[in-house]
Formats: sequence, structure tokens, C-alpha cells
Amino acid sequence: MKFWKRGKEKKDEGSFEGNKNFLDFLKSARLEMEGLMDQDTEWFYHLPYKGAMSLEKAKDLEIEKRAVWRRVIYDARRTQLAGLRWETRSDDLVCPECQKMDNRIFSFAEYDTLNRMVMHIGCRCNLVSVRE
Ligand SMILES: [Zn+2]
Repeated sequence: MKFWKRGKEKKDEGSFEGNKNFLDFLKSARLEMEGLMDQDTEWFYHLPYKGAMSLEKAKDLEIEKRAVWRRVIYDARRTQLAGLRWETRSDDLVCPECQKMDNRIFSFAEYDTLNRMVMHIGCRCNLVSVRE
């Protein structure tokens, strides 16, 4: 039983304190993506990836991608990783905004800045560990 620890947990959005599990990231990511989807009700038709995916599946995928992205930043901070490199898919579908970020390295000191950025719906970029 760890009830006494509950009061100490911080659940602030964007806070690096506390001990988040992936469900916390999924909850935050759902709010973030639903906010973006409210702003662009045609988002499903603008996705860079096409296929036989339903709107509901695509929404789940977008939420999961965003949760993973946020967790990567959180873990990098927690483990004091030297940096994170923004990597695009390097294909014709990369949007101009993401293209500008391609190979940009965010140092440990810039993780907050990185975590405040809001990537577009359908972003297929990844964050790659930089160890030196
Ligand atoms: Zn992107």
C-alpha cells in the first residue's frame, strides 16, 4: 500500500515532476489532440498518411503518437539525456514546418521549449536520442 505517497504526486500538465505512467501521457495527449481536431474539423482529410484507416483509428493513432512524443521528452529529462534530435521522414509528405526542424538538436536545457511546441495533426516526426 502506498497511499501516503499519493499526495506528493504532481499531475501538472507539462511538469516533469512526479511519476507519470503511459496512461497519464495518453490522457494529456487526448486533450491536446482533441483541441487540435476541434480547430480543424477537416483534419482527417488532411492527414499525410492515407489508407483504409477509419477516422476513429486515425484519431487513436494520433493520440498515441503524441503521447509517445511527450513521454520521450519526459524520459530524456528524467534520465538526463544529453539531447534529442528531431527527425522527419525525409519524404515528399513532410510539411514545411517540420522540414525546418529536421535534424535540429534540442539540448537538455531546451527540453521545456521542445515540450511546449505543438506539432500538427498527422506529424510523423520522431525524436532520436543524442548521447554525447
Ligand atoms: Zn512532423
